[in-house]
Amino acid sequence: QKFVYDFTEGNKDLKDLLGGKGANLAEMTNLGLPVPPGFTITTEACKVYLESGTEPAAMRDEVTAHLEALEAGMGKKLGQADNPLLVSVRSGAKFSMPGMMDTVLNIGLSDESVGGLADQAGDERFAWDSYRRLIQMFGKTVLGVDGDLFEEALEEAKQAKGVATDVELDAADLRTLVGEFKQIVAKETGRDFPQDPREQMDLAIRAVFDSWNGERAKLYRRQERIPGDLGTAVNICSMVFGNLGPDSGTGVAFTRDPASGHQGVYGDYLQNAQGEDVVAGIRNTMPLAELERIDKASYDQLMQIMETLETHYKDLCDIEFTIERGKLWMLQTRVGKRTAGAAFRIATQLVDQGLIDEAEALQRVTGAQLAQLMFPRFDEKAKTELLGRGIAASPGAAVGRAVFDSYTAVKWSRSGEKVILIRRETNPDDLNGMIAAEGILTSRGGKTSHAAVVARGMGKTCVCGAEELEVDTKQRKMTAPGGIVIEEGDVVSIDGSSGKVYLGEVPVVPSPVVEYFEGRMHAGADDADELVQAVHRIMAYADRMRRLRVRANADNAEDAARARRFGAQGIGLCRTEHMFLGERREMVERLILADHDEEREEALGALLPLQKADFVELFEAMDGLPVTVRLLDPPLHEFLPDITDLSVRVALAEARHEPHENDLRLLQAVHKLHEQNPMLGLRGVRLGLVIPGLFAMQVRAIAEAAAERRNAKGDPRAEIMIPLVGTVQELEIVREEAERVIAEVEQASGTRLGLTLGTMIELPRAALTAGQIAEAAQFFSFGTNDLTQTVWGFSRDDVEASFFTAYLEKGIFGVSPFETIDKDGVGSLVRAAAEAGRATRPDLKLGVCGEHGGDPESVHFFHEVGLDYVSCSPFRIPVARLEAGRAAA
Ligand code: ADP
Ligand code: MG
Ligand code: MG
Repeated sequence: QKFVYDFTEGNKDLKDLLGGKGANLAEMTNLGLPVPPGFTITTEACKVYLESGTEPAAMRDEVTAHLEALEAGMGKKLGQADNPLLVSVRSGAKFSMPGMMDTVLNIGLSDESVGGLADQAGDERFAWDSYRRLIQMFGKTVLGVDGDLFEEALEEAKQAKGVATDVELDAADLRTLVGEFKQIVAKETGRDFPQDPREQMDLAIRAVFDSWNGERAKLYRRQERIPGDLGTAVNICSMVFGNLGPDSGTGVAFTRDPASGHQGVYGDYLQNAQGEDVVAGIRNTMPLAELERIDKASYDQLMQIMETLETHYKDLCDIEFTIERGKLWMLQTRVGKRTAGAAFRIATQLVDQGLIDEAEALQRVTGAQLAQLMFPRFDEKAKTELLGRGIAASPGAAVGRAVFDSYTAVKWSRSGEKVILIRRETNPDDLNGMIAAEGILTSRGGKTSHAAVVARGMGKTCVCGAEELEVDTKQRKMTAPGGIVIEEGDVVSIDGSSGKVYLGEVPVVPSPVVEYFEGRMHAGADDADELVQAVHRIMAYADRMRRLRVRANADNAEDAARARRFGAQGIGLCRTEHMFLGERREMVERLILADHDEEREEALGALLPLQKADFVELFEAMDGLPVTVRLLDPPLHEFLPDITDLSVRVALAEARHEPHENDLRLLQAVHKLHEQNPMLGLRGVRLGLVIPGLFAMQVRAIAEAAAERRNAKGDPRAEIMIPLVGTVQELEIVREEAERVIAEVEQASGTRLGLTLGTMIELPRAALTAGQIAEAAQFFSFGTNDLTQTVWGFSRDDVEASFFTAYLEKGIFGVSPFETIDKDGVGSLVRAAAEAGRATRPDLKLGVCGEHGGDPESVHFFHEVGLDYVSCSPFRIPVARLEAGRAAA
């Protein structure tokens, strides 16, 4: 096993082994770009170190061999007194990660070699500046000395001399400072700053390895779901110097604008500076474009290199470079991060440039980015006052009055106030407050905290872990940096997409992407925004590419019409229970209370025309497209009054000797229907089998509505779906009755209705006996919400708020199985049931309804399993279309 790779040996595809930085340094080296020579110690070496506590034996020898080769090539030796080679030691994991050790520059300098460096460069000041930087960086990151101590000493030196910036300190000042820095190290660590250059290097390498398990790095990995065992690589890179005077400097650049995607010159440059000076804001940087004036040759070369990189990586890259006395050196590149909007624009720009094809363009964007673009957002032009920032936990833009406890949140929202619930962290007791609030803000906890998990589950805006905001729930106030105090009732605005928290009301604007999907903005229009044009094109690529069809979950004509505008190819789930609410609730009460046939039939008879009218509207809105209507599913008591309220009412009436016969009957019925476990009780097909005439009425309403549409020259395509079936016998009984009703309606209306009958697969038993069930079903729709509940034995209404946070923190799963389908468990049942069903009935239509239908990762899974369609809420349709396209591309 090889633990060390020269930059000439690696390439960009070796990120697992060499880390992102090392792989790309190698790639640039092999492209012939000017990269200072060096080598990379692999993540494998790191893994051995982390497991065993020591570096692998072979690693030390390999490092020695590579160092010798480097020295030979450079004609210098590491830290040699008269002609020193200096190196940087740089961490670099597969994914760039905050919390990893900072780079240490100028390794190899010592009391002896500092003189050699001065002679080499002919610049005494430069040598002492480099040395003080080494002690400072090494002291802080490798030896763990408080960095402020060095900063304070530097500040004092500047003050003593009466200057504002470090460049104004001369060689003698810096030499004195080096002495002070060494004393700080000795005092804080109980040992002298190491003078042996190889020891410096080895200690730095080990510190990089150790930083993999630093607290901040671990936290970040948990939040971003990065596996904990990848390890980090270490890059040893020969130094080039940007601090050798005004003809030297260091900079960062993007090959195009990461916010808009526009091509141009984007970056910052700082003369006579080293390393992080340019991003640290120590001195004012200049826009990269000005480099052209200072050093045209380097500037031109840099532009040339950026073009080479873009063409080579076929993507936006960001780069770090240094100029040493007029010679340009490349120190880093990677495919650059970008905003969601820029991702869409860049993908289409690259297609136009002929760099990538449509299929590749689809891989450059994600459904999550599209979803982000669909949230309303704060007006960018608005003047805002930033209070602080936290973690963007659940997207959206929310404005409301600050409240610090759930009780107040509920009370105020009942009286019509919009509120933002602010807590240090939330717990299950806050659930009602969270439901009542427009948004949730916490000062503690990460992406897997209770607040974040529950808010995402509810689709509610949430910023969490805003540590700079001090929340005092007792005093009902929050203090922002700078001393601004937010009291209960003050208005705040929170941005769940960026994590920013603002004072006062920031105006919210609708998303242009939604305006486009709604048809209120046209991509072809002259003034259409570039983003809309890009989204329009990417959606077209996806629609051309995808095999999965996308349907909507919608219960009324309005939602159906919107779904159609968003690109739905039918309705995959119409929940009829929503049609029984409101004023129709009383009719349902009557149906449930009926204790003889006549009474029951009367109640059903009253419901029939109303149901039918609903379906007529729905079929009209979805004319020509399939509409799957699910017969009544939820437990009946959901339609009845609350048992406690009702008991009180009856007791009161009794005490007052008022008539209460109806309430009493109702109460008895409620008692009778009360279940310990309603989700596993009398619901779904069980209702249809127990309440005579209920399903027949619903089927009749569907059939008559279809007949009416037919006669009006419409093209209704209704599919009747039976929920919660566990065995084929249940389905057969319902089916016989339904077929009889349909035949009657067909005969009476003189039309063929072409209705199909199918079932949901949402119980493990149904999945396991899918082969039998397919004999009585023309289609399956996987109800993955209930299937997840029943396969895991998780009560969906309870677990997310009670123990999922703990499960996520312990890494039992990385994401809630209600959010992304559990492929190994629930998913394998889906796969097996699909296969068994098709074995029985080759033309069996297969779909999925439920939250997973709009979840990016789950959509890929359903594509792979070979379903015909996914169905999701109207707003998720574009995301599902895009992901279905990406899955097929
Ligand atoms: P990060 O991962 O934080 O970007 P880097 O390893 O890229 O850390 O180092 C930060 C900066 O240090 C670089 O952008 C560059 O300016 C400087 N640097 C690193 N190695 C060298 C080197 N060999 N010569 C000169 N500057 C270097
Ligand atoms: Mg860097
Ligand atoms: Mg269900």
